[in-house]
Amino acid sequence: MTENAVDPCMVCKSTNFDTMKSVKWIITGLGPQDVHFGVCKDCGHIQQNPLPSMETIEAFYLEYSNYFVLDENYTPPPKAQLFTTKHMLSSANRLMPNKGKLYEIGCGSGIHLHYFKQDGWDVAGCEPSRDTGAQAQKLLGDCISLGFAHECLTGQEKYDVILLSGVLEHVPAPHDLIKIAYDHLKDDGLFICQVPCARQPHLFCPGWLALEHLSYFSTEILTRVLEENGFQAQEVILDDTLSAYPSISAACRKADLYSGPQPKHHNMYSMNKQMIEDHLSIDQQHWSAVESRFQHIDEAYIWAAGVHTAQLFSETNILEKITIKNVIDSSPLKVGHKQGPYEILSKDQFASNYNGEYVIISSHHFELEIAAGLKEMGISEDKIILLYN
Ligand SMILES: [Zn+2]
Repeated sequence: MTENAVDPCMVCKSTNFDTMKSVKWIITGLGPQDVHFGVCKDCGHIQQNPLPSMETIEAFYLEYSNYFVLDENYTPPPKAQLFTTKHMLSSANRLMPNKGKLYEIGCGSGIHLHYFKQDGWDVAGCEPSRDTGAQAQKLLGDCISLGFAHECLTGQEKYDVILLSGVLEHVPAPHDLIKIAYDHLKDDGLFICQVPCARQPHLFCPGWLALEHLSYFSTEILTRVLEENGFQAQEVILDDTLSAYPSISAACRKADLYSGPQPKHHNMYSMNKQMIEDHLSIDQQHWSAVESRFQHIDEAYIWAAGVHTAQLFSETNILEKITIKNVIDSSPLKVGHKQGPYEILSKDQFASNYNGEYVIISSHHFELEIAAGLKEMGISEDKIILLYN
């Protein structure tokens, strides 16, 4: 643990931070990046500190675009699989039974809005990522604007419901974004804010501390940030059943509708620090187990040029142990770039070069799907190395 007085805390502005983990990750298109995760000693917020530069964040989204759905004939997944959509829809329908005008800040490819529209809501939204926003436009039409909230929500129009789902953890100034939501919400409107929730570290996915998440909100810290910007939570849904990490969805009203006592905010430092320590200990065991999967190999391809590959390179001895031929990725956004010294090949380029080598699958979420695809290509099962299943 080192003192790391750097950027002010995103929540309380303190520069009194405990650095819990520092890594150098080899990021596609960016090269090696120093990333530091810490806990604020004065409020307990968990965040990257110092924050990456805006240039790094922007390059990351252009190169990585984890949030871009690649399928041309894309249709949204069935609602039954969309737990977050269901929680937000349930809160909105119960707390605003007359429905009305709804706006989503950072709507991604428009999946939430698609189901709200189907349910009778008058929907609109904005999305800063051009490719992802274009998909939302294809799904929902010109009610989707391409841009950030401060560029798109410039008029006087106010909404009955504003959604902010899976966004706040990515932004360097969460207070500013919540203020925009407050300003564009009707006085009796409902603001629904959903983020990954830092609780129950045994439920975190491997490599939970990730490049694209600048903040890791616990329940206390999220409600504090909401309250400091004029909101009061009316309903909080915690969901520990999601595959990657728990989630919190807070449905809030403007606080001046309430006449209750002012909220008091506790310093969550000790508790959140302990949670990170627990996570890091679980994560270390995970990477040791991963390392044991490839100790018998001299040469291999790596499938997937993502954050998990950056983590695999940094958390294990793979780079000393194995000669890596190339990295392969199905995203045309990554093919032709490099992850570290390794050129990223498409699936077709890989197929024409392949000569019986091992293939290590580094994707966490799509591991079994990728393995099935490799078998279909005729690659023998003993040459396919899974790291997670
Ligand atoms: Zn703080």
